[in-house]
Amino acid sequence: MNITMVDLTGQYNKIRKEIDEAVLNEIRLGQYINGRAVKEFQAELEQYLAVRHVVPCANGTDALQIALMALDLQVGDEIIVPAFTFVSTAEVIGLLKLKPVLVDVDIDTFNISTKNLEKALSKKTKAILPVHLFGLSCAMEPVMDFAQAHHLYVVEDNAQAIGCDYFFSDGSAKKTGTIGDIGCTSFFPSKNLGCYGDGGALMSNDDRLAERCRMIANHGQKEKYHHEILGCNSRLDALQAAVLSVKLKYLDAYIQARQSAAQYYTAGLSDIDAIDLPRTTIRSTHVYNQYTIRIKNGKRDALQQFLAKNGVPTMIYYPRPIHEQNAFKSIVSIAEPLNVSNYLSENVLSLPMHTELSGTVQDFIIRKMHDFFS
Ligand SMILES: *Cc1c(COP(=O)(O)O)cnc(C)c1O
Repeated sequence: MNITMVDLTGQYNKIRKEIDEAVLNEIRLGQYINGRAVKEFQAELEQYLAVRHVVPCANGTDALQIALMALDLQVGDEIIVPAFTFVSTAEVIGLLKLKPVLVDVDIDTFNISTKNLEKALSKKTKAILPVHLFGLSCAMEPVMDFAQAHHLYVVEDNAQAIGCDYFFSDGSAKKTGTIGDIGCTSFFPSKNLGCYGDGGALMSNDDRLAERCRMIANHGQKEKYHHEILGCNSRLDALQAAVLSVKLKYLDAYIQARQSAAQYYTAGLSDIDAIDLPRTTIRSTHVYNQYTIRIKNGKRDALQQFLAKNGVPTMIYYPRPIHEQNAFKSIVSIAEPLNVSNYLSENVLSLPMHTELSGTVQDFIIRKMHDFFS
């Protein structure tokens, strides 16, 4: 049995004809940069997300950087960001000479919680950058209420949660990434909507901010060779857009496959007392970019080694919180003890999770987990 964390070629093989045709069409058409395929994908994603504007760009990290560049911020302004996340989220803040103010996350959801926001607030706070980690939305309604009360921007890092629905207390629903002022996502191959290289996008319902993002991603110009603001060169290329247009049609089915696989793990592992399984909330669907468990008896690393010996790969997302990274030690400000982030980095483990997981493979993984803990 060859078990892998992700299975991109297995997924491709099922839609091979459509992908090959779409990619070949673009090669033959010859509009390799900002061509038809990019505009079509943009419109399709706008419709899927029910958002006014999608601005495609080169990758998820660029999306985050462009979003922050689009806000009128000054050097030293503070951005509240969770300590337990992928590096990009905090990295772009530092690159722009803004100050990442790290807050702890909730132990059950891995996401930012409003009680932590209070402690991080200062006169210099300008924005909150919540992350919908592993595919579960953070508590967006309280985050938005807090932001409104304190006149802060909200930029959502939706790289792991595209397609996730957030339910407001009035019963309405929105896709994550379309709730704050700007949403950012990544089309890195292993994300829920992944292309065959790098790709990313910004989302916004704000005409002015979307326009600024579009300009910044294109050298700060609206009209060719008229550069109004400083920007960068960040484009989604046509071949990737063609792949994404095909895969977007399957996104809901892919999410369902991930949800079924997650339910299967949860049913098979729920009798192991030494682990905590991923939680869901009534406010959000879970799109399971990762299936991440917490090992309660301190034996995470031993479990990982045992599984590896038995042919089961696992990953630790993330082994070091942001404040423990050398690049960040001197630039972050810490609003409170980051106990949960520290705990999670030492005790989480992500199991293989993808759209092609079979019951046989999952049964094997579940059996090996029981072997370890018995
Ligand atoms: C993947 C990811 C990013 C960055 O996306 P890239 O396309 O790799 O630049 C940012 N934030 C989170 C939470 C991610 O998982």
